[in-house]
Amino acid sequence: MPAVVRPALDAADSTSRLLATLPTGLHIGGEWGPAQGNATFEVLNPATGEIVTSVADGSVDDGRRALDAAVAAQPSWAATDPRERGEILRTAFEALTDRADEFAALMTLEMGKPLAEARGEVTYGAEFFRWFSEEAVRIAGRYAVAPSGGTRLLTMKQPVGPTLMITPWNFPLAMGTRKIGPAIAAGCTMVIKPAHETPLTMLALTQVLEEAGVPAGVVNVVTTAHAGAVMEPLIRDPRARKLTFTGSTAVGRALVEQSAEQLLRVSMELGGNAPFIVFEDADLEAAVDGAMLAKMRNIGEACTAANRMYVHESIADEFTERLAQRMGALTVGDGSADGVDVGPLITPAAIEKVTELVSDAQSRGARTVVGGAAIDGPGNFYAPTVLADVPADARVLHEEIFGPVAPVATFRDEAEALALANGTEYGLVAYVFTRDASRVIRVSEGLEFGMVGVNQGIVSNPAAPFGGVKQSGFGREGGAEGIEEYLETKYVGWAL
Ligand code: NAP
Repeated sequence: MPAVVRPALDAADSTSRLLATLPTGLHIGGEWGPAQGNATFEVLNPATGEIVTSVADGSVDDGRRALDAAVAAQPSWAATDPRERGEILRTAFEALTDRADEFAALMTLEMGKPLAEARGEVTYGAEFFRWFSEEAVRIAGRYAVAPSGGTRLLTMKQPVGPTLMITPWNFPLAMGTRKIGPAIAAGCTMVIKPAHETPLTMLALTQVLEEAGVPAGVVNVVTTAHAGAVMEPLIRDPRARKLTFTGSTAVGRALVEQSAEQLLRVSMELGGNAPFIVFEDADLEAAVDGAMLAKMRNIGEACTAANRMYVHESIADEFTERLAQRMGALTVGDGSADGVDVGPLITPAAIEKVTELVSDAQSRGARTVVGGAAIDGPGNFYAPTVLADVPADARVLHEEIFGPVAPVATFRDEAEALALANGTEYGLVAYVFTRDASRVIRVSEGLEFGMVGVNQGIVSNPAAPFGGVKQSGFGREGGAEGIEEYLETKYVGWAL
């Protein structure tokens, strides 16, 4: 098993400097304040299991106060000039970029990803503010003459209204900015509930938005350890007009049911089970590079993570060997230490789930090429793992792994590859490696996924529509489509 790398001793100093100016309360109506009864909950460092700090534990009443503030601010916010909303986002983009190191360190502290990756997330997350600062001034309608003449048809776009946002722990910044950016651009107010594991990044981001000029009541943030109890009344409140959620399919399904009561506009970015298909004509080195990125970005804790490698039987042994060499050479450790490639998983429960999936595959005959077990703590570390000859009924091919484990299985021809790839209830992203241009089109058309990466192991891009089909959800974030989720279309029929 690889040894776990730890940071130098002075890390504690820089952590306390980082936390010194960070608000830990609720942000409601432009004010920072404690939760009802001064309740708090602890935020842990997954690399050590130690307490980082405590933040406000918002109650049901706190949640309602946040929605009150968002509802009160909605009319004046909707009436602001698009340019003003765009400028606020632009200023926030610049502030995030200037403070990238600080944000990265905070994210690593509460979530565990290596610092270099955390910096990458700051860049990626900030880009949503820049992109939507540009979109804010491009919200347009249509004018048409009715086919029968006479009446004129005007189509206008208006903000959907107060929006509830629920974000996950795996990308604490970017999963927030890709909702907040378009909502601000469109003129929506919001109540944000970050994941209880990683509230600090969202609190720091709120500070940035406040300094960038977001008016009181537009961005309200409720941290809580009681997500269900706090959010359900808001989802059922007729004053809320939209719910946008990124997280697991199980929770997403429950929230869609709750949202049916008010027929809320809903966007769902849910779980994935991405196939990574390598055809016999692929550039093998590029495929291995792509696999490393698609599998190991964010320690494997990404909805876009390659969950199953399907490799043509003629090249499977070579691909597996090269992948195992690269995986085995990764440095595991505390993400804040120099040179670490693979940080800790988020919780001990995550380690248990990965261990269970690997044991299941091993018991069904899968071969462990490298890794294959958790590493002793403190902290939640799992060794980068490659499994070969994974049988079709192994759970690891059907359930979201959310960890550094790459199961490799084989296929004989294109039809079989497509059938295997589509044999899942999920449909977020698929990766394809081939040099055959016709095959790129054929396979992309045949894949039942919202996104396809061709000869690349990453698809996320603020200028592109991110989202899934089937049980990976609905709605798109980013691209020209991203702002539409926060706009209503109104039609005005005008007789001449
Ligand atoms: P999760 O357990 O579903 O939690 C996501 C968010 O929902 C958290 O803020 C959580 O709050 C909140 N939540 C949990 N139960 C709730 C309830 N009953 N009512 C209201 N809110 C509730 O998912 P996760 O473990 O944090 O995130 C991992 C999942 O997210 C994976 O399945 C991954 O694929 C998916 N994901 C999808 C995308 C995408 O774009 N498609 C992107 C990233 C992640 P607490 O933390 O306080 O429980």
